[in-house]
This record gives sequence, structure tokens and C-alpha cells, in this order.
Amino acid sequence: FSLQGLNVNKGSKITFADIGGLQDAKEKLTKIILWPIEFPEIIDQCPLKQQNSALLYGVPGTGKTLLANAVAGESGLNFISIKGPELMSKYIGESEEAVRRLFEKAQAAKPCLLFFDEFDSLAPRRGKDQTGVTDRVVNQLLTALDGVESLTGVWVIAATSRPDLIDPALLRPGRIGTSVFCDLPSKSDRVEILQHLCANVCLADDVILDEIAGRTEMYTGADLKGLISTAQIKLLDNLGINFNFMILK
Ligand code: ATP
Repeated sequence: FSLQGLNVNKGSKITFADIGGLQDAKEKLTKIILWPIEFPEIIDQCPLKQQNSALLYGVPGTGKTLLANAVAGESGLNFISIKGPELMSKYIGESEEAVRRLFEKAQAAKPCLLFFDEFDSLAPRRGKDQTGVTDRVVNQLLTALDGVESLTGVWVIAATSRPDLIDPALLRPGRIGTSVFCDLPSKSDRVEILQHLCANVCLADDVILDEIAGRTEMYTGADLKGLISTAQIKLLDNLGINFNFMILK
């Protein structure tokens, strides 16, 4: 049994500077993950063991995955990233063993950041699944997370858009005890996000990002990305590119 195809990456190219807004989330993650790396002698002297896991939650597209990648980039930690549904489907019948191996892999690669995306599919409330598969996975996660607290050099970030679905035992202090809300961007956050998204885009003189930010209340970062990409397609359309011709070719 091996976790084939699951890579340990060295850090990430993404940093906090690539993320618009999410100031509060960046600060919380800095305290949990970056401080112990930067000031180990101070953190080690704290009488209580510091939390080393966090749950990022917020509606889809608010930048949770981007944020986890940015923590890997800022810290330079080895980085293992796995999506909950992928782990459940790829290792059918062996998912709990896959979880155990995943934590072993993180420990072997320490200092390491282990990121679970779409965590709700991996860790739903126990007692609801007739087959018992997800219950066993949750029990394995509980065991592994209890172990992580006593380890130094392994951090865990989980992300979800449905925190209400997650088994509460996993979110107890000492396991994934810190929840970090990834809110919808404010107007000034949207300006920042648009600036990042348009960094390599040649904008027409009459495009005012501040005005676009003012007209996109309730848009997530992913929605803004969609908006820019739609504008790009529209531009190609206006230039008269013949798509049928391109597809045939
Ligand atoms: P999901 O819950 O669906 O997994 P998510 O919250 O993890 O979504 P991301 O996958 O991180 O969201 O965001 C999708 C894309 O939207 C990013 O790759 C990025 O291009 C853009 N984006 C989202 N939020 C931001 C942000 N705050 N700053 C810059 N870009 C952003």
C-alpha cells in the first residue's frame, strides 16, 4: 500500500502578497504557523503547547486553497495537499489506512504542512454513514490529530465551505482547534484582488478597477476571476476571431 502520485512539494510560489484582502485570516495563520518557525525559542518556552492546526471556512471561491498555498510559500515548509473526495475515491476501502499513511508521510517530510481541501467530505459527523467507511476515517483522523499535537514540525490546515457538516470532535481544541473565517471581500479587498488578477493584463484606459469593485458587491475572488476571463473572451470575440475555424483546425 502506497500513496502513489501524492507529492511532497517544497514550499510554494504563492505568497500572502498574491492574495487580496483576507487580512484577519493572514494574521491568524501567521501566528499559528509562521511564528513558531520564526521564533522557535520563544514559542517553545510557552507553558502550553501551541495549536498547530487550523480550519479555513467560508463560501466557495473566497481563497481558502490559495491561502493554504500562500502559507506554504511564506514558510517554505514541505507541502502535501490532498482533496477529501480524492482521498475517499482513490483508496476505496482503504481510506483510513491512507489517512494514517498521509500523516506518516508528513512526519517523514517534516517540517511539513499537510493541507486537506474539501475536508467535509473526509470528516462528516459520525453515525450517518450506513457503510461505516467515513466513521472509520474520522476515527483515524482523530487518532492522527491527537498525535500531531505532540509532534513538532507538522502543521495541518483543513478547508471547507461547510463547517457545519464536520464531526465536532475534530474541531475540539488540541485537534483542529482554531477556525479561521474567510469572508467575502470588502470593496477595498475587491480592488486588491482585481489588481492581482489584472497584474499582467493590458487594460483599456477607461477601465477603472475601483468602479468595477464598487459594482461587484457579494462577488468572491473566484467570481472576479470569472469576470476578468469573460471580459477576455468578449475581447477576442470583438476582434472577430472565428472559433468554429479554430475548433475545426
Ligand atoms: P472552494 O471552497 O471552492 O475550494 P476556495 O475558497 O478554496 O474555493 P480558491 O480555490 O482559493 O477558493 O480560489 C479560486 C481562485 O479565485 C484562486 O485561484 C484565485 O485566482 C481567485 N481568488 C480567490 N480569492 C482570492 C483572493 N482573496 N485574492 C486573489 N485571488 C483570489
